[in-house]
Amino acid sequence: MKIMIGTEHHVQLENCKSKLFCSCPTLGPEEPNTRTCPTCLGLPGSKPSLNKKALTEAIKVALALNCKINKEFFFSRKTYFYNDLPNSFQITQYELPLAVNGKLNNIRIRRIHLEEDPGKLIHEENHTLIDYNRSGTPLIEIVTEPDFTSQEQLRLFLQKLTIILEYLGVYSRKSEASLRTDVNVNIENHPKVEIKNITGIIDPIKAIECEIQRQSKIIKSDEKKVQHTRIWNPEAKITTEVRTKETEEDYGYITEPNLTKIEVSEKEIKEIKGSLPELAEEKTKRFIKIYRMKENDAEVITSDLILSNLFEKVANKIDHNLATRWFVREIPKVLNYNKITIEKWGITEKRLIELLDLLQKNKITETTAQKILEKLSQKLFSPKEYIKKENLEILSGTTDIEKLCDEAIKENPKAVQDYKSGNNVSLNYIFGQVMRKSKGTADPYQVKKILEKKLK
Ligand SMILES: [Zn+2]
Repeated sequence: MKIMIGTEHHVQLENCKSKLFCSCPTLGPEEPNTRTCPTCLGLPGSKPSLNKKALTEAIKVALALNCKINKEFFFSRKTYFYNDLPNSFQITQYELPLAVNGKLNNIRIRRIHLEEDPGKLIHEENHTLIDYNRSGTPLIEIVTEPDFTSQEQLRLFLQKLTIILEYLGVYSRKSEASLRTDVNVNIENHPKVEIKNITGIIDPIKAIECEIQRQSKIIKSDEKKVQHTRIWNPEAKITTEVRTKETEEDYGYITEPNLTKIEVSEKEIKEIKGSLPELAEEKTKRFIKIYRMKENDAEVITSDLILSNLFEKVANKIDHNLATRWFVREIPKVLNYNKITIEKWGITEKRLIELLDLLQKNKITETTAQKILEKLSQKLFSPKEYIKKENLEILSGTTDIEKLCDEAIKENPKAVQDYKSGNNVSLNYIFGQVMRKSKGTADPYQVKKILEKKLK
C-alpha cells in the first residue's frame, strides 16, 4: 500500500514582541481585545507594514532548513469569510514566498512563507466570543512535499524541526500550542484528505495513524471516495469531516497593495546567516570532540537546548564523563518518570554540581545520589546539607561493613550454599541484602570485596 503524506506547519514566532503588520504586542495582558489597533482589527483605512524582526527570524528558520531565500517577494490577500478574520482576508504569501527548496531529514521543503494569525473564537453554550489579541501574530508556514511515507518519518522530522526552532529561539516546548500542523494523507486508490489544525508534536502522528486506518477501510468498501477536509478532535483522538476541500483558486488570492515589493539583499542574508546560533547538529559534533562522548550520548543531550546548556555548566566543574553519564541516563530518567521538561523542573547547575561532586569525591554512593536526584525533582534543596541531616554519607569503615556482611550471610543460608556450589548470581543477592541494610550508603566495592573474602 503506497502512502504519501505532506505537511504544513504553522509556527508562531515566539521571540517577536510585536505583531506582523502593526506594533501591537504579541504578549501581555490576556484580557480579550486589549492588544489591538485599527490594523489588526481590520478597520477601513488601516495599512499594514511589515515587522522587520519577524522577517529576520523567518529568514533564520529558512536558512537553518537549507532553503533558498527569494530576494524579492510580496504579500497576498487570501480571501475567506470567517469571524476570526476581521478583514475577510488573511495577509499571507502565495505566488512568491519568502523561501523555497529546503530539505530536512531527506524530506523536501517546498516553501516557507510569512503570514498573520487570525483571532481566536471562544465557543460558549449558545454564542461565540471573538478575541482579536492573537490577530496579526507573526506566523511562518513551512510546507513540505508529500515525501513522508510513514508516521515514523513524520515523528523524526517533527522532532528535528522543533529542536532547530528551539535553538533559533522561535519556539519553546513549554508552549506546544504555538506549533499547529495540517497534514495531507493520500493512500493508494483514495483521493487526498487534509486534516487541519493539529496542535503539538504528538497529535499529528496520531491523526495520521487514524486517517490511514480510515482510508484503508474505505478502499475495501463501496463507499464513495472523495477529496475532503477533516478536523482533528484532540480529546476524542478522531477526525471528523468538515467540508469538501476547496482548491487554492477558491481563495481568490489578490496582491496586497500595501506590500507589493519586499526586498532582501545578499548582504542582509549574509549577515543573518552569520548571526545564526550554534544549532544542535554542530553542538553534537562539538560535544563529541571536546567531551569525547559517543554520538548517541551527544545527541541525547543536545536534543534539548536547555539541557545541553546545563550540561556544559556542570561538565566544566565535574569530571565530564561522570556528567555525561548522568545527563544521558539519570536526568532523563527523572524527567520521564515525572513527565516534566528540564525547563519546568528548574534544577540549577549549582545543585547538580554539588550532588555530582559528592559522588565524584566518593562521599556518597551512586544509589544515594540517584535517590537525592529523585527527591530534587519534587523540591530543590542542598544535597550537601541533606546527606548530613539524613546521615547518608558513604559507609566505608571495614568494621561496619563486615558487621552487615556477617548479618546478611547468617540470614541467607540458602543463597550462601548456592554460591558455594558455583552459582555466582547468588552473590549478587547477598550483596543486595547488604546494600539494603546500609540503606544504600555502603561502599559497593568494599562490600563486594569483603563478601568474596568471607565466602571463599
Ligand atoms: Zn495591531
